Amino acid sequence: MAHINTNFVKLPGSYLFSEIARRVEAYTQENPDKKLIKLGIGDVTRPLAPAVIQAMHKAVEEMGTVQGFHGYGPEQGYEFLREAIARHDYQDRGVDIAAGEIFVSDGAKSDCGNIVDIFSVDNVVAVCDPVYPVYVDTNAMSGRAGEYDVRAGKWTELVYMPCTSENQFTPEIPSKKVDLIYLCFPNNPTGAVATREQLKAWVDYANRVGAVILFDSAYEAFITTPGIPHSIFEIEGARSCAVEFRSFSKTAGFTGARCAYTVIPKELERDGVSLNSLWNRRQCTKFNGVPYVTQRGAEAVYSPEGKRQVEETLAFYRENARVIREGLVAAGLTVSGGVDSPYIWAKTPDQMPSWDFFDRLLRQANVVTTPGAGFGPSGEGYIRLTAFGGAEATREAVARIRTIL
Ligand code: PLP
Repeated sequence: MAHINTNFVKLPGSYLFSEIARRVEAYTQENPDKKLIKLGIGDVTRPLAPAVIQAMHKAVEEMGTVQGFHGYGPEQGYEFLREAIARHDYQDRGVDIAAGEIFVSDGAKSDCGNIVDIFSVDNVVAVCDPVYPVYVDTNAMSGRAGEYDVRAGKWTELVYMPCTSENQFTPEIPSKKVDLIYLCFPNNPTGAVATREQLKAWVDYANRVGAVILFDSAYEAFITTPGIPHSIFEIEGARSCAVEFRSFSKTAGFTGARCAYTVIPKELERDGVSLNSLWNRRQCTKFNGVPYVTQRGAEAVYSPEGKRQVEETLAFYRENARVIREGLVAAGLTVSGGVDSPYIWAKTPDQMPSWDFFDRLLRQANVVTTPGAGFGPSGEGYIRLTAFGGAEATREAVARIRTIL
């Protein structure tokens, strides 16, 4: 008889966004005339840049010719894209990363979920609390998280690093020695960023104890404050202890087109084995590459027109973030994030539980948010709003929230 991977059965049932969808659906059924504004889910709404569309059209035409047809591409990504990424995202910014250290993929979600394949099940894993749930669930699926404690809302074997207003939502190095450390800056869900000094402390720690930092910088394009690092590899010593995940999803609206990449420096080794080689082996076995058309589209993000157009869209979202942030502050809420990040993290009034405030905003303001408690125990007492909506809808949502508060 075949047996299942019982780790999957341990996963808690109700997923955050399905519970939100359920409550929204129930409310809509009861109140079909009400117009809801959704500032909950982190998907983008602006179209792909014209330069990207043009490049994709051209690639589609090529695919229809004998000379221009592309079948299976390299599992690591086409050289043209790996070179463009290395140059524009790293070398031009003074960061030492080469094309051979870049692995193009169909998403940062897949990569930060799949990376667990190359690490021993014995590693002690540290995650921020609140956290992007993928890091937690993928470690649970592969047997590294222990048992789920429903009352605590935590896995017994994971090390949770609270990110609270006391530490400006940046975690402290845990007292227990850890082996794999997930860091995400700018952070989802809190919108916090990490300074050079904070990241340096993590890099020094990881090099000292032999840990590996799994650095998710899916939102780096939103950073505008000078001096805030966009990449872990801006930090001296990171090449021997860090892996970085990046994505075209939020940078350039590729959530539906699917393109991302992972950076693994050549000198990163554990147990005397190169992690770049291990990941290459993993990808070549389980992954057959990103479509040629998509990679040509991603390459166009780096063209002069592409850069300008993408920057315009980012400015659009940044303006939404400003509107939400300033509007909620004016409504009397305590707010963080929303400056170098598309996420605004707001404290609920009068210590109201996240889900209660979510319901109040849904029912009284007809605005859909995300309850912070869904991202981990330290998210209790907060809600997350995103800047990815339309400009008009965002302004309207903030005005409604101000009215009811
Ligand atoms: N990492 C973080 C922190 C995210 O919030 C998201 C998406 O919301 C992703 C990764 C997923 O990115 P992708 O669309 O490239 O899979």
